[in-house]
Amino acid sequence: MHKHPEQKVHAPDNLSDLLASLRQRPESLLMSGGTWIGSSSLMRIHMHDQDIFWTGRIEELKRIFRSDRFLEIGASASFDRIIHLDGHLIPQGLRQALLNTVPTPVRSLATLGGNLCIPDESLNLLPFMSLWDARLELRKQGVSRYLPATEFINAEHELNLDPGEILVRIRVPLGRWNMQAYERLAADPRHNVPSQAFCGLVRIHRNLIEEFRVARIFSNYRWHANEQIDAQMIGQKLPIAEKAMQHWIDDSLKSLHETHDSVHQLVLNRFRTLSLRFARSIRPDYTE
Ligand SMILES: Cc1cc2nc3c(=O)[nH]c(=O)nc-3n(C[C@H](O)[C@H](O)[C@H](O)COP(=O)(O)OP(=O)(O)OC[C@H]3O[C@@H](n4cnc5c(N)ncnc54)[C@H](O)[C@@H]3O)c2cc1C
Repeated sequence: MHKHPEQKVHAPDNLSDLLASLRQRPESLLMSGGTWIGSSSLMRIHMHDQDIFWTGRIEELKRIFRSDRFLEIGASASFDRIIHLDGHLIPQGLRQALLNTVPTPVRSLATLGGNLCIPDESLNLLPFMSLWDARLELRKQGVSRYLPATEFINAEHELNLDPGEILVRIRVPLGRWNMQAYERLAADPRHNVPSQAFCGLVRIHRNLIEEFRVARIFSNYRWHANEQIDAQMIGQKLPIAEKAMQHWIDDSLKSLHETHDSVHQLVLNRFRTLSLRFARSIRPDYTE
């Protein structure tokens, strides 16, 4: 990263100092792992006259806490740290998502908060967190507020963050889903098709589907979820009948095609494969 002679890099060691400084200089750039800031050409052009505040020394922002009901992850916890939590501490679907999101060498630096706060873009993890009903704790000096992940970006793809405000923690509710899946397909540059991800959550009780949610993620800030169509699966007996699966997939892809402009046929085909694989993997043996 090129540093302008006038630019200052600060590394506060507590959250109060960081928030007090950001209140005075809200135009400063917050840096967590620095992996996006360092790799974004657009960012490199605009960042020269901004002071940088690096969060890496603030323990409070890296803390991870788990209770029976939720997992709370500090915004500056790295992917690696979260992935390597004990198996019973982290939901399998979240681990899968983090493993699949960034290449191995980047994981030790990249943070969950950094992924969620990339301006004007939402990458893989915001739709994932929305599907899980995660809540975000945002803070500026003297004020905290809590926001559902679904409300973190607006229709213009802007982040719901005030000047001087930062993401402090992500709270993921636990205990609701007894099957979680996350699968990602790499981009196909020959057809100009970006990477895609499929995220599915199911609650099964006595061999019946009680709750069912899916998100299909394709390229930055584009994803699709339709609760009404997913509701077709509620009450299905396991294993799900092929006809019901096909019906659900046809309706889901039709809705995706109608709601989003110019979705490549290859994207739809790949989602068909991912959806079918997911629906077939929901077996009676997942029952509690
Ligand atoms: C090679 C490579 C491949 C990648 N592939 C994928 C992919 O396939 N899918 C995907 O989802 N992501 C992908 N990423 C992006 C990666 O997930 C992000 O770079 C990373 O998560 C950002 O975290 P960071 O800590 O490095 O953020 P930084 O680069 O430090 O910051 C990113 C942005 O978030 C802001 N920010 C950081 N922390 C906070 C906070 N606490 N509060 C408010 N704002 C904050 C910063 O100001 C900056 O604007 C890839 C990255 C690389 C380098």
